[in-house]
Amino acid sequence: MKFIIPVLLIIVLIITTLFYVENVKLKKLVIKQQEELEVSANYIKQLNKKIVEDRNLVSSSKTSEEKISALIDTYMEEQNKEINGDSGNVIQYDEQRRFIPDIEPVKGDFAISQWFSEKHPGLDFAAATGSEVVTVAAGEILSVYYDEHYGNVIMIDHFNEYATLYAHLAATFFESNNTVEKGETIGLVGNTGNSSAPHLHYEILLYGKNVDPANYIDIEK
Ligand SMILES: [Zn+2]
Repeated sequence: MKFIIPVLLIIVLIITTLFYVENVKLKKLVIKQQEELEVSANYIKQLNKKIVEDRNLVSSSKTSEEKISALIDTYMEEQNKEINGDSGNVIQYDEQRRFIPDIEPVKGDFAISQWFSEKHPGLDFAAATGSEVVTVAAGEILSVYYDEHYGNVIMIDHFNEYATLYAHLAATFFESNNTVEKGETIGLVGNTGNSSAPHLHYEILLYGKNVDPANYIDIEK
C-alpha cells in the first residue's frame, strides 16, 4: 500500500500529460485549420474582387465601344451634312474654287502700291522681301523666266480660261511643267527687274487678256 499513492500520482500525471499533449495537438490543428480558412477566405475575396473588376472591365469596354460608335455616327452625320449641302456645300465649293484665282497671292502683311489700269495690267503688292508668294489656284507651271522689266517671273496655267503671273520675285521654287496646289508657296517677294522697292507684281489673264485681280479678292480699293 506504501507505493499506491505515488503510483496513482504518476498515473494521474501521465494521464494529465497525455491530455495536455493531445490538447496542444488539437489546438495546433485548430490554428492550422483557421489559417487554412483564412487563406481560403482571402482567396475567395480575391476571386470576388477579380470578378467585380472583370465586370467593370466588360462594362467599361462596352461604354467605350458605345462612345466610339456614337462618335462615328456624329462624324457620318457631319459628312452627310457637308455632302448634302447643309453647311454650305463645303466640299463642292472648295472643289469648284480650286482652279479659280480667288485668294491673295502674298502671305502676311502687304499694301497695294499700284492698282490695275490701262497702263498697269496687274496689282502691286508691296511686302517685305522674302514674304511668301503663293499660287492663287491649282494648276501647272507654264514658265519660269527672267525678264529685264519683270525680273524673276512665274506663270501658271489653271487648266481653264485662267492663267496668273507673278513678277519681281527674289526666288522661285518650281520649274516648268510642275503642278501646284492652290495656296502652295511658289516663290518669295523680291525687287528683281525694273522695280524700285520690294513688291509682287501680280496679273490674272482671262483667255489671254489681263483682268483686274482686285475683282477676285476681298480687298478695299
Ligand atoms: Zn506692277
